[in-house]
Amino acid sequence: KEAKGGKSAKHEGGKGANGANGARAVSVALFTADLRLRDNPVLHGALRDAPEVVPLFVVDDGVRAAGFRVPNRAAFLADCLADLDAALRERGGRLVVARGDVVAETCRVAAAVGAATVHLAADVSGYAARREERLRVALAADGRRLTVHDGTVTAVPPGAIAPQGKDHFAVFSPYFRRWDAMSLRDVLRAPRTVRVPEVRSARLPTAPGLASGTPSPGLPEGGESAARRRLRAWERGPLDAYADRHDDLAGDATSRLSPYLHFGCVSANELVHRARRHGGAGADAFVRQLAWRDFHHQVLAARPDAAHRDYRDRRSEPWRNTDALAGAVTAWREGRTGFPVVDAAMRQLAHEGWMHNRGRLLVASFLTKTLNVHWRVGARHFLDLLVDGDLANNQLNWQWVAGTGNDTRPNRVLNPLSQARRFDPRGDYVRRWVPELAGIEGRAVHRPWRLDADLDYPDPIVEPW
Ligand code: FAD
Repeated sequence: KEAKGGKSAKHEGGKGANGANGARAVSVALFTADLRLRDNPVLHGALRDAPEVVPLFVVDDGVRAAGFRVPNRAAFLADCLADLDAALRERGGRLVVARGDVVAETCRVAAAVGAATVHLAADVSGYAARREERLRVALAADGRRLTVHDGTVTAVPPGAIAPQGKDHFAVFSPYFRRWDAMSLRDVLRAPRTVRVPEVRSARLPTAPGLASGTPSPGLPEGGESAARRRLRAWERGPLDAYADRHDDLAGDATSRLSPYLHFGCVSANELVHRARRHGGAGADAFVRQLAWRDFHHQVLAARPDAAHRDYRDRRSEPWRNTDALAGAVTAWREGRTGFPVVDAAMRQLAHEGWMHNRGRLLVASFLTKTLNVHWRVGARHFLDLLVDGDLANNQLNWQWVAGTGNDTRPNRVLNPLSQARRFDPRGDYVRRWVPELAGIEGRAVHRPWRLDADLDYPDPIVEPW
């Protein structure tokens, strides 16, 4: 372990500090889910290692092949890379881009510049674990070493806390007690200068070059600069009211930092430090949500197959055949179920590539508990659209709602009407997203089937209860 949470890989015959050809010392910072200069242990580690650093991003064929590169996240990623490149140029450097297999390309670049060490963030998916292992072996075969940094993607590294005799926490409350008592590493400053050696680079990718298809029209701008602007606006106002207002669908009073956290434009570590310094009930509630993020990451790190398989058996009704329910699933995807609050949330997702957490909970419950469609169907649709689409948070939240995950009350069912009454009491959220119903005043908008009006809006696909 490195000081303050960094983790050293096994050193398998690494080249000397002067690099492969003995002429100069260079290291490689391989950017993955940490597209930022501030508080980045990977970049910091690489700069501590050597006077010259290659800040490398590989447009990884494996990510595209896994169906994980979709238009919304591709557009956001293109913004992130352009912003990272601009920030590096301000410091005398630039981003080096390669395309292809991430392991082969990283080894090629490391060999080209004679780097002794490649630095990488620890991450939790099965894919990330295989990438790390392949990279370690391939670099070692060439006499180089891999240094893997914990605490880059999450605030508390997965595995840093676990119940006695177990590899992860399955229940959030005891996890949170331990998590909250952990001391976090200090926030790292952005480097003032970054010296990059001569090395071939591909062009910065554009959104269409990363994935085909049209991004959602209301997508946020990606990148560390945009993340800092959002963070400042968040801390200046809504954060203080977060404890009371985070479930208010129309109030839109959450941070919307999730895509920036997913791509690592801002670190969870820094957010926790800043919120604790800010203090108050809103900041406490916000820190707790950040702990949920770490919680799901530690579950996935211990059980990578939970991305695709039930974490535990479902005790409520069995899944129904989705072929027979194809029409209902299409109505759900398109926001035409006839339940206004469900449809509003699904249309927000299509328009913004983002959905309010309360919306996510109730549409996921509708699909998995009311229609009894397997959570994987909903999780896939979310991953196709969410700009914050994240294997740990998405799959494990879906499992949580579906009753196959970590909810201690796996059989609860959210009733869309009572959810609407509680979290959209005046109906503003529905009117914002379902224009066919915009003329209906007040909470009556949640039960259009009761109105004697000629509406171009579908009847409920299941009997309202
Ligand atoms: P805030 O309320 O401002 O919270 C701050 C941060 O805390 C978030 O950005 C997020 O990183 C974290 N957080 C908040 N709630 C949760 C939670 N329940 N689980 C894990 N982390 C949380 N979040 C994703 O980042 N990616 C996903 O793919 C994703 N899929 C989801 C699918 C379902 C079915 C559900 C119920 C939730 C999902 N979430 C996902 C969690 C949550 O809905 C989003 O993180 C949140 O809505 C993002 O908005 P925000 O940044 O304004 O959140």
